[in-house]
Amino acid sequence: VAQAEGQEIMRRQPAVDLVVGPQAYHQLPELIARTHRARGERLSADFEPQEKFDALAPAGRHATGVTAFLTVQEGCDKFCTFCVVPYTRGPEWSRSPETIEAEARHLDAQGVREVTLLGQNVNAYAGEGGLAGLVRRLAAIEGIERIRYTTSHPRDMDETLIAAHGDLPELMPYLHLPVQSGSDRILKAMNRAHTAESYVGLIEKIRASRPDIAISGDFIVGFPGEREADFEATLGLVREVGYATAFSFKYSRRPGTPAAAMPGQVDEAVKDERLARLNALLDAQARRFNASQVGKVLPVLFERRGRHAGQLIGRSPYLQAIHALAPDRLIGQIVPVRVEDAA
Ligand code: SF4
Repeated sequence: VAQAEGQEIMRRQPAVDLVVGPQAYHQLPELIARTHRARGERLSADFEPQEKFDALAPAGRHATGVTAFLTVQEGCDKFCTFCVVPYTRGPEWSRSPETIEAEARHLDAQGVREVTLLGQNVNAYAGEGGLAGLVRRLAAIEGIERIRYTTSHPRDMDETLIAAHGDLPELMPYLHLPVQSGSDRILKAMNRAHTAESYVGLIEKIRASRPDIAISGDFIVGFPGEREADFEATLGLVREVGYATAFSFKYSRRPGTPAAAMPGQVDEAVKDERLARLNALLDAQARRFNASQVGKVLPVLFERRGRHAGQLIGRSPYLQAIHALAPDRLIGQIVPVRVEDAA
């Protein structure tokens, strides 16, 4: 929004001292100092991603725990009609595998055991070997025992990545793969470049490679032109796939995107009602998934102390938060834990 609407923010609200886009946050201290010295230079939104990553050298990074996020990719070329990202974050851009590995080794040396590779279109990672190659490279680092990545586009879910889920124990059995809608008519209007059927087929392939994988998704209800039948197709897809967890939203207009100007904008009350129905189904699936783990022994990476005395909080391979009574010395270790109850 800073990059797309910075000028407008300045125009509408003179109290704003500075607008900083995501490619310029490495310059924040300098920008604040400059703004303090002289008003007038209030907009800083246009920089190349490379410049930011060069400035945020891995050697300067301090890990704050046993898990860490690691940006590998930025930007998006997909232009879904509801989304502002391609206009604000620019085209797809990937860091080199060498710089990512250097940062991962630096995190490893500080005790990080799990990295989550980040990108707006992380599986469009275009460095040598693609995302699968990168994951294999990082899995070879001694102390990095768990790898996750987010967010993915179904279009970029290639065979090498699917195969990696099957044969790389470091790659956690959890995949966030947004579908947005179960209606082909709406998917087309969204410019998603996949159909409901191709998405379900993809999930089947991924499950054939890694049967226990937990699937997560994103959904938009009330996209312009969405009829009851389209929404029911979304419910149908959710039932068919079975999600471990999901994120669902009402469509909301993003200025400058094609969908904002589309006819057939859906009533707020209709959106509310559909979202409630979708959430009821997704919540039931999430509860069922969690309940299915009760009685099992899961490897849990303990991350930090819990709220109660003697309690630690960690994550299962499926990204579930696990609360257990355990000594502090287990923080940073992967320990078998029997699940007694789920909520
Ligand atoms: Fe790109 Fe994702 Fe936005 Fe689509 S929803 S334009 S894939 S960032």
